[in-house]
Order: sequence, then structure tokens, then C-alpha cells
Amino acid sequence: MKTIGLIGGMSWESTAVYYQLLNRYVQQALGGLHSAQLVMWSFDFAEIEELQACGDWQTAAGRMIAAARRIKKGGAECVVLCTNTMHKLADEVQNAVDIPLIHIVDATAKAIAETSAEKPLLLATRYTMEQGFYKGRLSARHDIDVCVPGEEDRQVVHDIIYNELCRGVISDASKQKYLAIVQRARADGADSAIFGCTEVGLLLSQRDFDIPIFNSTAIHARAAVEFALDGT
Ligand code: GLU
Repeated sequence: MKTIGLIGGMSWESTAVYYQLLNRYVQQALGGLHSAQLVMWSFDFAEIEELQACGDWQTAAGRMIAAARRIKKGGAECVVLCTNTMHKLADEVQNAVDIPLIHIVDATAKAIAETSAEKPLLLATRYTMEQGFYKGRLSARHDIDVCVPGEEDRQVVHDIIYNELCRGVISDASKQKYLAIVQRARADGADSAIFGCTEVGLLLSQRDFDIPIFNSTAIHARAAVEFALDGT
């Protein structure tokens, strides 16, 4: 089994889910007492969020690269960046280390391509919903066009992520807001939804919907385990 390298803490609420899923998937695949072999660097998210909020992506890239080098030194054979938003810096991270970065967009695109979904709604941070790095890669590399909520709804989705989910606050009122946002998008033609933020799965699950849901956390963890077990 190869050693999975996690860059986590963004936020730790979802990194904990990664840790659980990675171990569960390995146990399901290999049975017995098997669990994932992994190393992790976990950030103090307050520092990273500050860099995001003031747009200092260059310093943030330096932090991500340093973490990737650290986990590689610790024995990691791949990099799993446990956040969609920081995949804005995925190319810089990949260029800095000679182990593969398992890209969350590519893994999610593969999961979408296995279904008949044609117009997924992207639920994510404002950075991910509004900037080109996520939507652009989905469309340029995978021919998948996503839609995003309207301006006001994007702010609601974003605020619930940072003010609640990343702090471990799970509220029914916020769940209802997300459900209403998905309903509005469906009226505009969305036929599925991407949980394009690793914390959204803390609030909602496939059980809340009768359209396909692509949960990036679970999909990414699955891709990492496939890499780790390839050839075993
Ligand atoms: N974990 C979130 C994501 O998947 C948001 C927190 C962050 O900005 O890293 O985008």
C-alpha cells in the first residue's frame, strides 16, 4: 500500500471526515484490520483564511508548497489537498514536488462522467464558485459546464461555510437555506449538485435530494485510496 499524504486543517472539520473515509475505504477493500497508511500536515486554518480573505494567494501558495514538501519528507507518495478552494494553487504545489497531486476537480469530473448529469450546480466558497480555477478545469479538461447560484445565494453559501461549517456548527436553518438554493437552481435547469466544498457534506447528503449529488470529500478520498491500493 502506498502512503497517502494529506494537507489538511482547511478546515479540520472536513479533514476529520477525510481521515475517517480513507481508513474506511481501505478497510473495505482489504478487510481485516487494514487501515490507511498516511501522513498529514494540518494547518491552523485562521492563518490560511486570513490569506484568502486579503487575496494573498502567493503567500498561501508558499504555505501549501512547504506543507507538500514536509509530508513528502515524512514518506508521502501522493499529495491530497483536503480543500477545493486551495486547489486554486494546485499547479504550484504539483510543480514543487515530484509525487502526484490527486486533483479534486479531476476526481469529481470522473464521478460526474459516470452518471448522466449534464448541468451540476456548484456549491462552494465564493472563491471556488466565482474564480476560474475550478469551473475552468472542469470545462476545459472534462467538458463539464456547471452552474452557480445567483449573487445573493453565493454569499449565503459562502458565509455558512466559513461562519458555521468550518467551526463545527450544523444548523437546520442553514440546511433549509441550502435546500432552497438548490431548488431555485433546479428551476433554472440544474440536474445535479456538486458539494464543491469539503464541509458541505457535514450539512447535507444524498438522502436530502432526488437528484445526483457529487460530494467532493468522499470522491477525493476514494480517489486517494484507489491510488494507494493500485497494484496491491
Ligand atoms: N474546505 C473548503 C473547501 O473545500 C473551504 C475552506 C477553505 O477555504 O479551504 O473549499
